[in-house]
Amino acid sequence: MARTTIDFGIDLGTTNSCIAVLNGTHTEVIENTLNNQKLTPSAVWVDSKGHLHVGQKAKERIEDDPENACCEFKLKMGTSHSWTSAHGREMKAEDLSAEVLKSLRADVEHKTGEKVQAAVITVPAEFDLPENQATEKAAQKAGFNYVQLLQEPVAAALAYGFQSASDRVFWLVYDMGGGTFDAAIVNMRDGIIRVVNHGGDKFLGGKLIDHDIIHRLLVPEIKRQYPALDDFTPDNPRYRGAFGKLKKAAEEAKILLSRDTLAQILIDPLCQDDSGRLVRFEYELQNSEVEKLARPYIARSIEICRRVLAEKRLEAANIEKLLLVGGPTLTPLLRRMLNDELGITLEYGIDPLTVVGRGASVYAATQRLEQPLPEAVVPAGRFYIECQYEPVGNDAQPLVGGNIIAPEPVDTSGYTIEFVEPKSEWRSGKTRIEKGVFKTRLKAEKDRQNEFLIDFRDNFGNRLDYEPERIHYTIGITISDPILTHSVGVALANNETQIFLSKGTALPKRIRQVHFSTVEVKKGDPSSLLRIPVVEGENTRRANRNRLIGAVEINGSQVRRDIPAGSEVEITIHIDKSRQVTAEAYIPVLDQVLEKVMSLEKQSPGLEQLETDFGREKERLQSLMARMDGDEKKSDVVLTKIRCEQAAHNVEKALTAARDGDINATDEGLLRLQELQTVIDEIEDIDEWPALVRQAEEENQQTGEIVQEYGSISDKKQYQALNLELRTAIEKRDPVRLQRKLEEVGKLQVKIRSTRVDFWIELLDYLELRKDQIENQPRAARLFNEGRRAINAGNEAGLRNCAIQLLELLPQHERDQALHYNGTTMVKK
Ligand code: ADP
Ligand code: MG
Repeated sequence: MARTTIDFGIDLGTTNSCIAVLNGTHTEVIENTLNNQKLTPSAVWVDSKGHLHVGQKAKERIEDDPENACCEFKLKMGTSHSWTSAHGREMKAEDLSAEVLKSLRADVEHKTGEKVQAAVITVPAEFDLPENQATEKAAQKAGFNYVQLLQEPVAAALAYGFQSASDRVFWLVYDMGGGTFDAAIVNMRDGIIRVVNHGGDKFLGGKLIDHDIIHRLLVPEIKRQYPALDDFTPDNPRYRGAFGKLKKAAEEAKILLSRDTLAQILIDPLCQDDSGRLVRFEYELQNSEVEKLARPYIARSIEICRRVLAEKRLEAANIEKLLLVGGPTLTPLLRRMLNDELGITLEYGIDPLTVVGRGASVYAATQRLEQPLPEAVVPAGRFYIECQYEPVGNDAQPLVGGNIIAPEPVDTSGYTIEFVEPKSEWRSGKTRIEKGVFKTRLKAEKDRQNEFLIDFRDNFGNRLDYEPERIHYTIGITISDPILTHSVGVALANNETQIFLSKGTALPKRIRQVHFSTVEVKKGDPSSLLRIPVVEGENTRRANRNRLIGAVEINGSQVRRDIPAGSEVEITIHIDKSRQVTAEAYIPVLDQVLEKVMSLEKQSPGLEQLETDFGREKERLQSLMARMDGDEKKSDVVLTKIRCEQAAHNVEKALTAARDGDINATDEGLLRLQELQTVIDEIEDIDEWPALVRQAEEENQQTGEIVQEYGSISDKKQYQALNLELRTAIEKRDPVRLQRKLEEVGKLQVKIRSTRVDFWIELLDYLELRKDQIENQPRAARLFNEGRRAINAGNEAGLRNCAIQLLELLPQHERDQALHYNGTTMVKK
């Protein structure tokens, strides 16, 4: 039977993966062939012959053959990072993920005989463009013809029957995995499910507890019992096997303790000591010991939940349910702490290790396969019924229409089609085919997937041979179009970001904005450059805090004529459903369109770069702290200071691990560094605010006086309006607005003053101070002379001319360039 809907859902997890299918109304997780487990560890091992192994077997080699085994590659999705086995096999995260997907696909084929062609694959809510694209590529490489991505929290919500929850309800999905934590708020509005907000920590999960059990409980005890064991560390190749055994035992004991109060660990032999004697290790692990280790990690996750709620001004009381997802949520302590501290009703009726995969299959069953199957798949001599309908919708009586594709030319008038729903015993009645097409209405029941058998007959009432034989329809579940997980915009010349598409925008979407250029592009001069950097992230004040995903550029050697500064540039950003970003710049003076499809691959940062950046942030932090020392009274200052210290400590910790060779630690370092930068930015804002207000008030007053004295009526009007806006920005404590208004006030002042000769005289004086910066000194000297003469002669036009020419001799601002993305356009108002 050919499938008309995707039906298969896959949770491609960091630690474990699984594949599920919806059978009628219940979800079934297909067990793997290796050991009949529902979960397949997301691990790959290359054996000495170069063969690949996936799952439990690979997981067990991580410790004792670390050069040839790899796990947690999901954390590297969408980066250029690649892993090379000792045998020289090089694979990127998407290749490794493809192996896991292939293995799941093979399991289904082995158990059911079906070759899975299409699947819904879940991704974390925080996956951004490159990570999603890499996931799609992995699926292609694994042989899937068609995939749809679905966010993990949405999948979990669907498994818990979110579709039947009433509108405007919020659920919180708490997902603690092996190494990552995600919290997401989902909501349904007008029948569409969305992730309203999400947050998390890529380095918080169950394995931290395993690690602590080993290093804080077991290893000290081993050292106490066997003082002769020298240098008993995981880095010591002699003890690799021993640490592999400890890891397995610690995880197993921890899992047992989610049910019992005591777990027995017995490893015999653990290893050999220096004189070749076998070492036997026994330990009675108490639940209370493990709880003590786990408590701070759980507390950290609760903190993240609170933040995710607060960011949307939601309180626990606004959340109807908290869904528990991921292995560690089976721990009683975790449930107790969540219950005590958040007080939201917990839901854990569905196995938290497979709930995401199950939810993915619920969704998959509602998603029609995009294309009708290729003709080759329909055996010769059969009719193909190409049905047009939405497999999910709000309508209880959806319309279905279609085309009859005959195996050979035949007159189908008088043929009939009927739809029958076996469960409700509803029949559509026979509908006549007219000119090869038909149209009728179905009748569906709520809260289940409705199955309509197709009965297709010729004009004598004989049943024909045709495909498909049935279609499915479900009332209610609609997932919104794919949405953007982070905003996308353009880095401007002043290092602000103009957001084009905000986080949460449904895709596909195209937005056009008009900018003007701030630099001149001189024909023939390749060093003059117009550059439009496209960035992903939420920071509007500091574009360089966002992630650069690409840039549209044009230089002097590519233009037919000059593009003067101040020229219009129409910028269009388009993001399609598969999240490919295309940026386009149209420059009317050239009548030319520049286009760039963004390469979305993320680079993993180098340790050296991180150290340098961290050094810079530490300096920034120090000078800020020094300036604020007198300000301790203010509670917000004190609090932010503490957060800063903690953030800096976290960076330090990650960098230490990176220096010790932990490959994931550089990514963690980058993340922690960004967190530190954000906190420092916040203090700077607190710190800069009074100075900014002072500056704005001074400039404003000065401008007021000049306007009063020399301004035209329209200048006065403009000033009044600006003055009002500036006051509002101060009242609202909006530094971005205030900065902008300050600039506008400054511009107005310059405009009025530039009509007066004094202005040009002052400008010449100012330039004289900076004349060292000018390269062409002889020319500068000539111009200064000319300028002075013009002043003496009362030749205003001459003076202005000299000053402008001198201005152009000054080098471009090189100062901030390294820091900014060197954008050269500004928004046209
Ligand atoms: P991921 O989403 O990263 O693929 P999972 O949801 O599969 O991760 O969770 C894996 C983690 O759950 C591992 O750290 C494992 O030790 C832990 N785990 C599994 N079962 C239990 C249990 N009963 N109690 C506590 N932790 C568990
Ligand atoms: Mg998971």
